[in-house]
Amino acid sequence: MTVRDKNVVVIGGGLIGFSAAYQLLKRGMRVTLIERGSEVDASCSTGNAGMVVPSHFVPLAAPGMIWKGIRWMFDPESPFSIRPRPSWELISWGLKFYMAASPARVKRAMPVLRDLALRSRKIFSELSETEGFEFGLQKKGLLMLCKTRKALGHEAEIAATAKSLGVEAELLDAEAVLAKDPAIQMDVVGGVYFAQDCHLDPARFLGDLRSQVRQLGGVIRWGEEVKDFRQSSTKVKAAVLKSGDEISGDEFVICGGAWSPSVGKKLGLRLPMQAGKGYSVTHPNPPALPSICSLLNEARVAVTPMGGKLRIGGTMEIVGLDESVSRRRLNGILKSIGGYFPELAETDFSGLEVWKGLRPCSPDGMPYIGRAGGRENVVVATGHSMLGLSLAPVSGEMVADLITGAAMKYDMALLDPDRY
Ligand SMILES: Cc1cc2nc3c(=O)[nH]c(=O)nc-3n(C[C@H](O)[C@H](O)[C@H](O)COP(=O)(O)OP(=O)(O)OC[C@H]3O[C@@H](n4cnc5c(N)ncnc54)[C@H](O)[C@@H]3O)c2cc1C
Repeated sequence: MTVRDKNVVVIGGGLIGFSAAYQLLKRGMRVTLIERGSEVDASCSTGNAGMVVPSHFVPLAAPGMIWKGIRWMFDPESPFSIRPRPSWELISWGLKFYMAASPARVKRAMPVLRDLALRSRKIFSELSETEGFEFGLQKKGLLMLCKTRKALGHEAEIAATAKSLGVEAELLDAEAVLAKDPAIQMDVVGGVYFAQDCHLDPARFLGDLRSQVRQLGGVIRWGEEVKDFRQSSTKVKAAVLKSGDEISGDEFVICGGAWSPSVGKKLGLRLPMQAGKGYSVTHPNPPALPSICSLLNEARVAVTPMGGKLRIGGTMEIVGLDESVSRRRLNGILKSIGGYFPELAETDFSGLEVWKGLRPCSPDGMPYIGRAGGRENVVVATGHSMLGLSLAPVSGEMVADLITGAAMKYDMALLDPDRY
């Protein structure tokens, strides 16, 4: 069988699943994508902050994060919380996070995250000039805004590390921050400007991917849930749907986001994962609009202009697969905005529709990408945590490389889905 004759089944229709489907179709393969939601649902992939961030080369599991997390847990409006519950999975995930948050591990992970993000940025840039894609890519950089000297000092260290890794970073005082984005007033002590970061409209990008997948002949099965697999000890033969239908294929790609562990379990895969819930609200006509996206450092809030709209989002709640909205955490996000942008107030955003998404968080902050479970025809691409939009194009490309047998360009051991 040539690669072009391959029939690939992709499970999950978020940014990762559709990016994989697109790249596979572009290489001439046949693709069926199975998504249990409808065309109007989109899990974690539409209301996110839309940032493409080569600046985020430090994985979530990093030294200092554990103590910061513990301190935040006692504040109901803080940007991070874990709901303690008697769950072995949660305890085991926490221990793995702790083990991964070592300087040596982070040092090894940083160049990998940098390379993945820069490759993704390049693909985004190429796609933005490709017919059928119009997702508002803005290559204007990102401002990391700090209100305190302490935070600015920490960001200065990150900026120095960024430069040593070849990621552009410029340390700014308050005046220089204002000069970077004269479109809006800011009340900060300084910040860091990451010139290679970009922003875009993730819902439009996902919409473009969906149309392209359809146009290239991909079959999309909306409203169908994969419940099991027909398999031998070496190979998967078919995905078995809740309806009882079977979808056979030559290759199977698991891109189920925060729900991937239960899909993988049917194949004997162990994909430790916690869902990291976050929220966003989007103002259709804000009183003031920055032109550059920013991160409010102390508040851990993302602020992104999208066309004439303004999105603010944040928080990371580890509360299982519970999708309810915590008003207190949301208030924590909204309250922070006026402190950094005096022309914007909490009340500007308080009546708006709230979007929520479950980030698929691996314990070491690295995605799971690779062949898995000793099966010759299973590929996993999930666990992207806070970087699923940033890394979607490169993840799709890696899935296609794995299936076509192309040489891999990254340290795949760090991404190995069988690493736990
Ligand atoms: C507030 C917030 C802000 C964010 N901002 C950014 C940002 O600025 N930049 C960035 O890079 N990332 C950001 N992220 C993270 C990013 O949104 C996620 O990492 C990304 O959307 C994950 O995509 P995914 O395709 O893996 O998962 P999802 O979008 O969750 O898609 C997985 C899909 O699989 C389907 N599925 C699961 N199980 C089955 C099954 N058994 N059968 C069929 N279908 C199944 C689900 O229904 C779902 O649609 C943010 C996240 C949040 C919450």
